[in-house]
Amino acid sequence: MNLILLGPPGAGKGTQAKRLEERYGLKQLSTGDMLRAAIAAGTPLGQQVQEILDRGDLVTDAVMLDMIAERIAQPDCDRGFILDGFPRTVPQAEGLDEMLARHGKSLAVVIEMRVDETALFTRIANRAALSTEKRADDTEETLRKRLGIYREQTAPIIPYYRDKGLLKVVDGMAEMDAVTHQIETILGFQSASAT
Ligand code: AMP
Repeated sequence: MNLILLGPPGAGKGTQAKRLEERYGLKQLSTGDMLRAAIAAGTPLGQQVQEILDRGDLVTDAVMLDMIAERIAQPDCDRGFILDGFPRTVPQAEGLDEMLARHGKSLAVVIEMRVDETALFTRIANRAALSTEKRADDTEETLRKRLGIYREQTAPIIPYYRDKGLLKVVDGMAEMDAVTHQIETILGFQSASAT
């Protein structure tokens, strides 16, 4: 089963994706983590994208599509994967569709984690305070910019997937466990009546 977790920075996509990976063996594909790993390793790609990430801008669609195409072809994705942080633009979503079709794969569902924007500032501040690996983009100023980019460039993929009948929405403001439960229910991993 292949799915997308969609939502603004700080919505909890990474946390939920990790849980689904641990519980059900679906591979978490976080493009942000992949880019940060490339930066940490000092690869040519890492050098190319470091400033972009620090500024809170988006890496080009072509680079992101290549990165995901290479990743989903690997055997650890055979049981299914969770896209976390990708796609972030309509051209990425269209490119993903073509790529999946080429590989004979498809998306089961796109889960939008809906959150209250003001709460994100608190969450990101907490993440910055608690994290051992500091992220240069976890500042209030960069978050403001990233939220603007989310609204302008990423939110248009919500109607794109709604029109395809793939979109489901969860309340990302609920307790972490309750969000997991909502997602598991959508994925059919748990009955809706379970607590
Ligand atoms: P994230 O960890 O998902 O918040 O991503 C951190 C940063 O990586 C973003 O602010 C972008 O600079 C870059 N990035 C991650 N995924 C993408 C993507 N799908 N398209 C463009 N840039 C991305």
